Amino acid sequence: MNKQELLNELKEKMSGDDILPLKKGATNLVFGVGSPDTKILFIGEGPGYWEDQKSEPFVGNAGMFLNKLLESIGLARQNVYITNVVHHRPPENRDPSPEEISAYGKYLDKIIEIIDPKVIISLGRFSMAKFLPTAKISSVHGKLHTVNWKGRNVAVVPMYHPAAALRNGSVMSQEKEDFLKLPEILKEIEKPVIVQEQLI
Ligand code: URA
Repeated sequence: MNKQELLNELKEKMSGDDILPLKKGATNLVFGVGSPDTKILFIGEGPGYWEDQKSEPFVGNAGMFLNKLLESIGLARQNVYITNVVHHRPPENRDPSPEEISAYGKYLDKIIEIIDPKVIISLGRFSMAKFLPTAKISSVHGKLHTVNWKGRNVAVVPMYHPAAALRNGSVMSQEKEDFLKLPEILKEIEKPVIVQEQLI
């Protein structure tokens, strides 16, 4: 099976999982969008009103801003993959609880495994905490972190949530700057590792 087929199969399984804690209050499952063959995976927090209606992540105001940020570095949302830490809308857009995040976590982990991206961009503190549980976003945003996650090295760049940028001018400037640094970070990650031959 290719990556798209694996994701389709996972989505099907998730749709039938009635134990997922936020399912009852939601209109739709918001699984993910974009190219499964991408090098870049974005992980946000959870669906809001429009995402719940349209069954697609980041289609409201924060999504419009995310699209602009992507365009600023020559990326289109069809060429990256975008998902969330929880895949049903929390009531009244409240923060997801640790129990909810953990219930959806097994599906998110599978999405990460299938896509196997070169870099994960976490959007906001909930998705950052999955990889950098003790980090403060104000200190680590926009910087490349290599974390050991499930026994393998994963490249993570924490970013502010686009909705936080829309609420605060200085976060917005920072977010724009952080995005402009991404192409360089990607180049760095893709550099071949040169194993020096040992001279005897
Ligand atoms: N905010 C998120 O974190 N995710 C979405 O899908 C939309 C808004």
